[in-house]
Amino acid sequence: MPFKSPLPPVPLETQPYGERMLDVLWRHGAANPTKKAMICAENPQFSVTYHELYHGSLSVAAFLETQGFKKGDVLLTVLPNSWEMFEVTIGAALRGIIVTGVSMLFTEYETRKQIQDSGAIIIFCSDDRLELVSKAIKNIDHVKKLVVAQLSDRTKQLPTNLPTGITRFEDVLATKPGEPFAAVKIDVKQDVLLLPYSSGTTGPRKGVMISHELFSTMITTISSHFKKNMYPYLNPHREVASEHILLDLPISHIYGGAMLQKAMLLGQTAVLMQNYEEHCYLRSIQNFKVHFLFLKPTVIVMLANSPNVDKYDLSSVEGGLSSGAPASVDICYKALKRLPNLKRIDQGYGMTETSGACTLPIIDKTNPVTTYSGVISPNYEMKLVDSESREVPFGESGELLLRAPAMMLGYLGRLEATANAFADGWFKTGDIARIDENGLVYIVGRLKEMIKSQSLQVSPTELEDVLHSHPEIADAGVIGIPWNDSDEAPFAFIVRKNNNLSKEEINKFVNGKVAEYKRLRGGIKFVDAIPKSDAGKILRNVLKEMHDNG
Ligand code: AMP
Repeated sequence: MPFKSPLPPVPLETQPYGERMLDVLWRHGAANPTKKAMICAENPQFSVTYHELYHGSLSVAAFLETQGFKKGDVLLTVLPNSWEMFEVTIGAALRGIIVTGVSMLFTEYETRKQIQDSGAIIIFCSDDRLELVSKAIKNIDHVKKLVVAQLSDRTKQLPTNLPTGITRFEDVLATKPGEPFAAVKIDVKQDVLLLPYSSGTTGPRKGVMISHELFSTMITTISSHFKKNMYPYLNPHREVASEHILLDLPISHIYGGAMLQKAMLLGQTAVLMQNYEEHCYLRSIQNFKVHFLFLKPTVIVMLANSPNVDKYDLSSVEGGLSSGAPASVDICYKALKRLPNLKRIDQGYGMTETSGACTLPIIDKTNPVTTYSGVISPNYEMKLVDSESREVPFGESGELLLRAPAMMLGYLGRLEATANAFADGWFKTGDIARIDENGLVYIVGRLKEMIKSQSLQVSPTELEDVLHSHPEIADAGVIGIPWNDSDEAPFAFIVRKNNNLSKEEINKFVNGKVAEYKRLRGGIKFVDAIPKSDAGKILRNVLKEMHDNG
C-alpha cells in the first residue's frame, strides 16, 4: 500500500510561472515601494526593491522579444546568486523560453558540455566569466547571443571595448516593454520552464525538464508550509514578510532556487551570497538578524566547529533546515550548543527531478534534531520496493518510489534514461528509505551511483569520461567515499597504460577539467582491472568493497 502525505493536498498552479511572479512582485512593490527584495551579502550597499525586480523582469522579456528569441528556445545563465539571475528567469518565462543554469564553480570544459547538451542559443554571464564563456562557446553554432552583466564588483565599469555582438545587461534593462505587455501563451503542464542538470540514478548529467506547473506548485507548497507551520513556531507574533533569509546555496540548484522563490512569494528579503565565505556568512546572519537558516551539512559542520562562530552575535538564529545531503545528528547537536537561541535543526529531503521538496519538516517538540526528514510532501505518494520491485513489508527499508500529479517531464533528448527513471508511473529516486507509522520518512542510504560532495552532485560517469580522455589511462571507475563529517569525496580506481603515470599528473589533468568539488579528493588507487558485469557495467559495489578493504 502506498504511503500518502498526511498534509492536505495543494491545488496545482494553473497560472504560468512568469505571469504569476510578475503579479507577486507588483503586489509586494505596491504594498511597500521601498521594500528591499534582495540584498548583496558581499556588498550590502547594493540592493533591489520588489518594484525594481518587476520592471527589470519585464525589460528582460521585452529584450528577448525584440531580439527574436522564441518559445522553446534555451537560455543559459552563468551567473552567481543575484537579482539579475532572477529577472532573467522571469523575463525568459514570460516569453516561454527555457532557463538552464551553469554552476559558477564550473570550468570551461563543464560549461561547454552544458551549452552543447542544452542547445542554448542565448547566454547571460557575469563579467568575471566572460573570458571562460567566450572560450566555451567557440565553434558552437547554436549560440546566437551573449549578454554580460557586471556583478563581481559593482563599482567597476565594464570595459567599453567589449567584442562586437556582446550586449551589456544595463542595455537589456533599458529595453522598454510594449503597452500592454503581451506574454506568450503557455501550457503550464507541458511547457518547460527550467532545465537544471542531474545525473539521476546513473550516467552523465542530464537536463531535467521542469514544467511551469511543477515548479510553481512546489514553491507554493514550500512557502505555505513555512508560513503556516515553521515561522509561527519560532515566533507567532513576528510578521513572516519581515524575515531576512540568507542564501549561500546556489540559486541555480533546486534547493537554493526554491528557497529564493519562497522568500519572494512571502514578500521577504533575501540576502544573496555570490560566493560562500565563512566570515561573510556569519556577518550577514549578525547584521541582518536572520532567524531561520537554510543549511547544507557542510555549513552545519562549520557552525559546530569553527572558532569564527564565537566572533559574531548569532543570537538571532532560532531555527534551521538541512537538506541536499544527509546531515550528522551529532554535528547538528554540536551546532545547537554553539548558537544560543537555535531551538532546532530539521531535515528536508528533495531532488532536482521533483523540483524540490519530497518531504516537509514538521515540528517535533521532543526532538530538537531529527533522524528523519519530515513527512511526505502534499500531493506525493511514496512506496518502498526491494531489488525485484516488490513492495517491502511495513517497517523495512527499500528503494523509495514517488508518484505525484505533477512530475518532471523527462530528461532532455534522452528517451531511454527518461523511461528508465519510471516504473509504472512511479519515479525511482535511487534512495533507500524507511517510513514509520506516523508517516515520517527516514533516508537511510543511496542505491544510485551519484556522489554528493559539499551537497552538490558529482556523476561518477562524468569523472570516468574525463579520466578516459587521458591518453595514458586504459580504464577507470569512480565511487564516493565518506569524507570528514557529513560529506563525501570522489575516489578513482585507475588502470594505467604506462606505469610512469603518477597520481599528481592525473590530479593535475582532472583539476584542469572539473570544478573543485568534483576533484578526486578521496584519492586514487592503481589497479590491474576495473570489475565489470557481463554487460560491461562497472560494479561499483565491488569497488566500494575494494576501497573498504584497503
Ligand atoms: P539533488 O538533485 O542535487 O538535490 O540531489 C538529490 C539527492 O540528494 C537525493 O536523491 C538524495 O540522494 C540526496 N539528499 C537530498 N536530501 C537528503 C537528505 N535530507 N538526506 C539524505 N540524502 C539527501
